[in-house]
Amino acid sequence: LPTAPTGITPARVLTIAGSDSGGGAGVQADMRTFATLGIHGCVAITAVTVQNSLGVQGFQEIEPPIVAGQITSVVTDIGIGAAKTGMLASSAIIEAVVDACTPLGIGGDGTIPLVVDPVCASMHGDPLLATEALDALRDILFPIATVVTPNLDEVRLITGVDVIDDASQREAARALCGLGARWALVKGGHLRSSAQSPDLLFDGLEFHEFTHSRIDTPHDHGAGDTLSAAMASALAHGFSMPDAVAFGKQWVTRGLKAAYPLGGGHGPVNPLW
Ligand code: PLP
Repeated sequence: LPTAPTGITPARVLTIAGSDSGGGAGVQADMRTFATLGIHGCVAITAVTVQNSLGVQGFQEIEPPIVAGQITSVVTDIGIGAAKTGMLASSAIIEAVVDACTPLGIGGDGTIPLVVDPVCASMHGDPLLATEALDALRDILFPIATVVTPNLDEVRLITGVDVIDDASQREAARALCGLGARWALVKGGHLRSSAQSPDLLFDGLEFHEFTHSRIDTPHDHGAGDTLSAAMASALAHGFSMPDAVAFGKQWVTRGLKAAYPLGGGHGPVNPLW
């Protein structure tokens, strides 16, 4: 084995998210991205899912004080340059996350950027967030988010806007910033009619468009998690938000090109090459 470099503490990023037993999405995808980027990843597990390539068969939530405890423990000792949220499961967990993050300077007016990937369901449609938690997502988590990264299904659930074209994508971005997020990234990856995969970033004033060719693969499990983990990694290194999005998009595109089949369903994006 090559000799490992010693003595240098790498950038640290915290993911507050669910475990995927199939290893494709959730904290497992985040940790793969962090490790490949040379970042030390820390985790606050919110739920343990029972999951394989065919779908999510069930999950067990972690007690909210244990979720909050993981966040506080990591940040007060190890320190982090950015954090992201993924699956949060319930309003009680969202409240615990917001209560833990705010005094630690994560998101809001704090100095640590917070990427909120508002995970609502798996690609198979299995719910990962209770319907009762949508209000907490909108009312207390979005106002402290440095950036929110919903896909089009999540945009519909959260804002009621059905994104079908450029104009409705802009309307959705305005609605998301209106909920208090500093930046909103409306991912167009689910606009199946489009040959491109247009993403729209908005800060309440200016729109930035990001276009990449669509990678046609059934193996895209964990794509959203990988994007938000790569964005948090870039923000931890001091990238501007538009640069962090551009980096994240490139990272996911690369991972989709290298995605592999797994089990009988959808394989994962693969940043490890
Ligand atoms: N499982 C967990 C724990 C997740 O966090 C996510 C997405 O964020 C998923 C499953 C769903 O991933 P996908 O939509 O790629 O199936």
